[in-house]
Amino acid sequence: MKIKVNDIPQEGLTLEEQHDAAALDLARDDLKFVTPITLKAFITRDTDDVYAHVSAEGRIEAVCGRCLAAYIINFNKEFDFSYDVKGKTVLDLTDDIRQEIILEYPVKPLCSENCKGLCQVCGKNLNEGDCGHKPDADRWSEAKKSGN
Ligand SMILES: [Zn+2]
Ligand SMILES: [Zn+2]
Repeated sequence: MKIKVNDIPQEGLTLEEQHDAAALDLARDDLKFVTPITLKAFITRDTDDVYAHVSAEGRIEAVCGRCLAAYIINFNKEFDFSYDVKGKTVLDLTDDIRQEIILEYPVKPLCSENCKGLCQVCGKNLNEGDCGHKPDADRWSEAKKSGN
């Protein structure tokens, strides 16, 4: 998302763009956008300062860290940026937006807070039903200790 500084009118500039997530290099092993990302921005300028209010929207396919099932996250976040544009003619927000989007990714995606995970004995997805094996209590207390 590039803006020509001198094109920002007094009343502000409204922009809407669609970006290919692959072009923005936003994929992580367990997360990827399955739609283009819609970026909407409202840009204002006060002499040498430019302020941008940006929203980013799209759908992410994530892989649950517990049960390994794919699920969809509706991503919709808003960011604010400010820039000193003294001596600049073009402002490129793309990299800042990219970094903010990545910061909003879940550290460990979970299909649900209550996801039961996979049976350690037979590998069945326990969200789909009980296989009759006993859960390993030690494994869950280990998981808690590591912060998840
Ligand atoms: Zn899960
Ligand atoms: Zn089992």
